[in-house]
Amino acid sequence: MSALARRTFHGLRQTGRLAFDAVVPPVCVACHAPAGEPDMLCPTCWAKAEFIERPYCERLGIPQPFDMPGETLSQQAIEDPPSYDRARAALRYGEIANRLIPRFKYADRTELAPALARLMVRAGADLFPDADLLVPVPLHWTRLWQRRFNQSAMLARDVAARTGLPANLTALRRVRRTPKQVGLPRKARHENMAGAFEVSEAGRAEIAGRSVILVDDVLTSGATADACARALRRAGARQVDVLVVARVVDQF
Ligand SMILES: [Zn+2]
Repeated sequence: MSALARRTFHGLRQTGRLAFDAVVPPVCVACHAPAGEPDMLCPTCWAKAEFIERPYCERLGIPQPFDMPGETLSQQAIEDPPSYDRARAALRYGEIANRLIPRFKYADRTELAPALARLMVRAGADLFPDADLLVPVPLHWTRLWQRRFNQSAMLARDVAARTGLPANLTALRRVRRTPKQVGLPRKARHENMAGAFEVSEAGRAEIAGRSVILVDDVLTSGATADACARALRRAGARQVDVLVVARVVDQF
C-alpha cells in the first residue's frame, strides 16, 4: 500500500469511527436512555442502583444499620464467621441489579460484562492491593454445557483486564453438581454445597500461599462462596476475599 493510500485508508477509518460514534451514542446498560459513556448507567439508574457504601461490616460487606464508632464487624460476622476473609458487593440486589444480572446470566447478554466488572472494580478497591489473583466460581460442566458460558469467568476476566491482576479460570473446579439452592434454609444450603468444589492438582501450585479474590455475580446466602473458600484454603490459599456484582441484603 502506498503512503497516500495508507493515509487515505486511515482517514476513512477515522471518519467511519466518528460517524459510528455519532450514530450510536452510548446508552445506559440498564434502561437504554442516553448515557455519558459506554458500559455505564445513566444518572437516573445510577441514583437508583443501591450502591453498598460504608458503614458496612468489614468482613461480610453488608450495610450496617447505623455507624457504630469502633465497631467494624456485624453481629452476624462475629457469631457465624464465614470461611472467607472479606466480601464486597457493588450493589444491593434490588431493581437495577435485577435488570442487569438475569439478562447477563440467562439471556446471553454477555456484552454487559464490562459494565458489571466496572461496578465490581469500584466496590473491590480495598481488596486489590493485597490480592495475587482472581478465581471465578466455577459451573459444573453439565451446566456450562447448557448455558454455554460461565458468567463468573467472564466477570473475572473483565475485572482482571481493569486491575492488571491475573485471573485463573481453571484452578477451582466444581466436582459435584448441586441441587438448586432456591427455597432451602440457610443450614441446608451450606450442607448442600459441602464438598462441591476442589482445586485441581495443577491448580494447587497457583493457589498455595496466595491471596485469592473469588469472583461471582451474586452473593445470596454465601453458601457457595463459603464452600469455594474452604476448597481454596484446603489448597493452601493464604487469604480468600469475595467480590460480586450484587448481594441479597435482608431488610432491617
Ligand atoms: Zn438508565
